[in-house]
Parts: sequence; C-alpha cells; structure tokens
Amino acid sequence: MIALRSHLQGRWIEGGSPQVLVNPATEEPLAQAGSGGLDLAAALDFARGAGGPALRELTFAQRGQLLAAMAEALQAHRDELIDLAVRNGGNTRSDAKFDVDGAAFTLTTYAELGRGLGEARFLVDGEGVSLARSPRFHGQHLLVVRRGVAVHVNAFNFPAWGFAEKAAVALLAGMPVVSKPATSSAMVAHRIVEILIERQALPAGALSLLVGGPGDLLEHLGPQDVVAFTGSSETGARIRVMPAVLRNSVRVNVEADSLNAAVLGPDADPGSETYDFFLKDVLRDMTQKAGQKCTAIRRVLVPAAVADRVRDDLADRLAPITVGNPAQEGVRMGPLATASQRDEVRRGIDLLARDGRLVYGAADVKPVGVDPGRGFFVGPVLLEVEPGAEAPSVHSHEVFGPVATIVPYSGRPAEAVEVVARGRGGLVSSVYSEDAAFTTDVVMGLAPHHGRIFLGSAKIAETSPGPGTVLPLLVHGGPGRAGGGEELGGLRGLAFYLQRVALEGPRPVIERMIK
Ligand code: NAP
Repeated sequence: MIALRSHLQGRWIEGGSPQVLVNPATEEPLAQAGSGGLDLAAALDFARGAGGPALRELTFAQRGQLLAAMAEALQAHRDELIDLAVRNGGNTRSDAKFDVDGAAFTLTTYAELGRGLGEARFLVDGEGVSLARSPRFHGQHLLVVRRGVAVHVNAFNFPAWGFAEKAAVALLAGMPVVSKPATSSAMVAHRIVEILIERQALPAGALSLLVGGPGDLLEHLGPQDVVAFTGSSETGARIRVMPAVLRNSVRVNVEADSLNAAVLGPDADPGSETYDFFLKDVLRDMTQKAGQKCTAIRRVLVPAAVADRVRDDLADRLAPITVGNPAQEGVRMGPLATASQRDEVRRGIDLLARDGRLVYGAADVKPVGVDPGRGFFVGPVLLEVEPGAEAPSVHSHEVFGPVATIVPYSGRPAEAVEVVARGRGGLVSSVYSEDAAFTTDVVMGLAPHHGRIFLGSAKIAETSPGPGTVLPLLVHGGPGRAGGGEELGGLRGLAFYLQRVALEGPRPVIERMIK
C-alpha cells in the first residue's frame, strides 16, 4: 500500500497517524495518508514567504499563463486521473471525466481572464470620485493582493474540480495556496499536485498540499490569510469560530450543504420538451456521482395534477440504471465515497420517509461486479410527500446521495417560492417553464435565497449542462444553509483574495499610481 505524502516547505514529507484510503466499490485498501507530526506552522510560513512574493512579482497575464500550464498538465494526464477517480472515488468514467474536465475547464477559464487583465498586478475598483469642490481632492478604490496564504479545505466529492476551482482563483489573484483534500478521496488531488510539482508548473511555495487530517493547520492563520472551505455545515461552523480565525479576523468562505429544488411550471405538460428537459436534469442529478453533488436537485416540486405522472416517468428512467463497480462496463452508478456516507444516507432516507413515502428504490441494492456484501452502495431512491405537507425533514435534511423527494404544489408561483425557501438558503434552484410571467415570479421570489437560479427552458435544453454543473463564470455559493459563501463568478471570485483599499489624496498622484 502506498503512503501519500504531503508537499510542504517545498518537499514531499510523510505524516504520522495515517488513515487508510480504499476503493469504495470493493473496499480494497489503496493508500494511506496522515498528517501527524507535521510542522504546519512552518508550512504556512514557507508558503507566505516563498510562494507569495514569487506570485506577486508576476502580472495577472503571467499568472494566467501558469494556470494554462496547469490545465495542460491535467489534460496530459487525463486518463490516469480518471482511472484514479474510478478506483478511489467510486466514480463511473463519466463521473470522473466530469470532475477532471471540470478542473481543466475552470483553470483554462481563469487563464483567459488573467490574459484579459494583462500587465496589471492590482485591480482598479470602479471610477475615481471627487471628494471636495476642488477636483484635486480625489478618491479611488483599489484591490490589492493579500500578503498571506490561502488555505483551501475541500470536500470528498470533487477532488480534481474542487482543488482547481479554488486554486485557479487564488493563484490568479497572486496568493499562494495550501490545499487540503478530503482524506477519503485524496488520491486524485495528490496525483494532480505531484504532476504539477514534477512539471515545475508553479514557483516554489505557490502550491502546497496537506494530505490526512487538518491537524493544527488553521490554528496558525494570521490576519493576511484566508480560508476557503467546502464541506458540511457542521465543519464550516467549527472553522468560523476557531480562536485564530476570530482573533485575526481571518477571511473565511464557506460552501456547505444545500437542499436544491427544481420547480416544474404548470405549463410544462408531460411529453413537452420542457417537461423532458426537467426529467433529464432530475435524473442526472440523482445518479451522477451517486448524487454526491452539493448542487444536486433534492426537492422536485411539481404541480399536484401531474405528480403521479412525474413519479412514474422518473421511476421508468431510473429502472435501467445499473448500480455496481464503476470499473465494470455498463455500470451507470457507483458507490458512495465511504461507509459512513452510506450509513448517513440510509439514515437520511429513513428520516425523509417519515415525512411521506418511498415510491421508488430501496436503500439496499445488489451491486454488479463486486463480492456480496462489499462496497458502500445505495440504489437510487425517490420519495414523495402529500400536497401541502409540512415535511420538516425534506426541507431541512440534506441526504448526500442518490435521493430526491417529489413535493406536489398547487402550480402557483408564490407557493413554489414559499416551499423552496423552507430550505433556508441554497446553492442553486431551477424553474422549468416556458411561461415568462411564471418564470419571472419564481425567479424573483427565489433569488434572495440562492446563489444561482437555473431557468430551464426548452430553448437551452441542447446546450445546457443543467443546474448541477458549477460554471466558472457564474458565482457558486449561497446564503444560509449553503454557508453564506461565494466563489468563482469570473473576476468576482478574485475579491476574496484581494484587499479593497480606498485611496484619498491629490488626483494627479493617484492617477499616476494606478495608470
Ligand atoms: P466534511 O466532513 O465537513 O469535510 C470537508 C473537509 O473538511 C475535509 O477535507 C475534511 O478533512 C475537513 N475537515 C473535517 N474536520 C475539520 C476541522 N475540524 N477543521 C478543518 N477541516 C476539517 O464534509 P464532507 O463529508 O467531505 O463533504 C460532504 C458535504 O460537503 C456535504 O454536506 C455537501 O453538501 C458539502 N459540499 C458542499 C459543496 C459546495 O460547494 N457548497 C461542494 C461539495 C460538498 P478530512 O476528510 O480529513 O476529515
């Protein structure tokens, strides 16, 4: 069994107290990773002291070139990374491509944005303003890169994309990164960093990797540092109140849970293009990555008049989904990432079933291509609640697996908005309708509760990847339960790593400075 090493202070180093990483389909041990005994304070100092200055010396365009080289490196090793994601992540090949290609696409997008920013090393924020009757007394906002380190703590479900979406933005801004992947699926992120180090794609200290538990990493954060976290609400809440974070006002971004909803409009008759588009997106989100996507549709709001039809149509489409070892040909859905995720999902299904009834599937499934009793499998499960039911668990408990609940509603936009808002803040929700008035009412009602809203019209059915795909040019994050964070969004994402500073003084001096 190989021992994964961290890359800290410019060298590979093995930590103690390792945990074993397994193939979640077969439970075969694959590697071990531990962070015990590592000097994480020194690791952060090295990133700040070596990586920070090296990146700040570069222009945005030059940093963009680094990102382009990173994307190229990932593409050159695409097959190898996909194989690793199949083995260590339980991904089907299609799931693994989604992760690895998503990572490369995000890096490429930010490389392009860097090119567009050209020779600058800081950003000018808005127009200058006159601060007195005399135009000589002038004000101007700038965004300058912070002098600290960006610590990235990632969830297990997207080891490649999760790494890249955070690293691309921080590196383009000019901040060195210490990336900590979730331990259970760390092999992909570990290999990516290994590839980047082998290629010397980045200056020394610009990218460090910590495998294994977080140890005391976050206890050494200082006032110029930032933490971008993706994972459960509980861990996010714990990070926010860490003494070093509070004491030093460390900037924290949390991307957490979400009870994403899809609302079918009353105009989208069964058999229409819009209806089929809606079914396709629900089905994809239930089964892609075995439902382990923070953006997956969990609540399926449909007009009560068509609820039976939607249930039957979804059940028909779920029936041919073969669950099993993703290394085997023909398998459409793999296992969950860990035994504890599987147990959590089973518990979650029981909880949701108390609000209504199970209408398709069962937590137990006979996976193909694995020895009996092996692997962390759960089959796709569809539940349904009564129209008008309170359904407290459906609207408050995220089941991070191939599980969705049909929630019938009257077809009135105000009711759809009220029901979706019970989720107390989400990453993305969607509305499937060709009725402009209905769509507008639902979108405007949902907007304050979400980071992104997907307008599911047949007009974009051919080109859209659906609401579950995070696009680098649009913001990712959401209020409340979703963590209150915001990532990506094109250049908007840079702001997290930059300090906004207001200059006030003589206009000619300021204008010369920012030219
Ligand atoms: P998790 O248990 O909270 O772990 C997330 C990360 O935090 C892992 O790297 C974990 O490391 C680390 N961690 C655990 N305890 C920590 C602590 N005390 N201090 C610092 N880091 C700590 O979440 P998960 O089970 O991996 O992910 C599933 C959850 O993530 C789901 O609820 C899902 O909705 C959410 N998610 C959200 C998004 C989004 O963009 N909003 C995306 C993906 C997933 P170890 O693995 O070493 O324990």
